[in-house]
Amino acid sequence: MSKSNGKTAGKKIYISVDFEGAACVIGFPSKPMETLGSGLETNTAVFKQAQRLVTAETNSAIRGALAAGATEIIVEDNHGSGHNLLYEELHPEAKVIMGGPRPKRFCLLDKSCDGLILLCHHAMAGAQGGILAHSYSSVSVHRMILNGRPIGEIGFDAAIAGERGVPVIFVSSDDAGCAEAKKFLGQDLVTVSTKKGLGRNCALSLSPKKAQELTETGVKRAVQNSPARKPYALKGPFTLEHVYKWESQADAAAGARGAERLDAYRIRRRGKTVSELL
Ligand SMILES: [Zn+2]
Repeated sequence: MSKSNGKTAGKKIYISVDFEGAACVIGFPSKPMETLGSGLETNTAVFKQAQRLVTAETNSAIRGALAAGATEIIVEDNHGSGHNLLYEELHPEAKVIMGGPRPKRFCLLDKSCDGLILLCHHAMAGAQGGILAHSYSSVSVHRMILNGRPIGEIGFDAAIAGERGVPVIFVSSDDAGCAEAKKFLGQDLVTVSTKKGLGRNCALSLSPKKAQELTETGVKRAVQNSPARKPYALKGPFTLEHVYKWESQADAAAGARGAERLDAYRIRRRGKTVSELL
């Protein structure tokens, strides 16, 4: 039953698709990070292969949600520029948010949604064995700390969804990302690990087909169990500390409204909500 209208209806599921967490996606192993930014630059063979792999895992998630009774599925193409999936191959029963800039993170996520799926996500910056691990920016962010606790995209995104009353019901990532998701969101969260990181750009990966199979069955179970999941609602007020990789990045961030310079690398901001701090 959809939460929005109270009448008998199928579930509405919101799928945020990142990129780095799909099976067999590891970026560029042979080039140093410092020259490559995110490690998945567009218009490369590695990126184009990742587009196919991520699109296939997305379609598996959509099939799983439909099998569990979802009648409305919104996919948000959430990596980089927001223009990554192979749209002509997307399952016909989903709609997709693409392009940008967007008004806010998860721009159509509201309490009419029965659950948020974080698909192909990655561990936080600094997670050992996290494939392409980062926290919103591979180029600039060394660490993010929310109210004294190191946090990455999985925890922070879950907190944003929590402020809108929507629980995270499923996460797919590598081993490090799935462990992080369970640490923040509870051991009963349904996760699918597509690979084990042996380094930042080195993995023992499932085959894409196996990852797709596990994603479909995992999402089906997660959507069925969605009424039991609680939104990740954190209590404010909040302080968010950013530790940057370079002093000049902290210099640039120090100009933001409300930013407090802690030292050469660190900026702190305060807010009543998590959303306003992103
Ligand atoms: Zn990301």
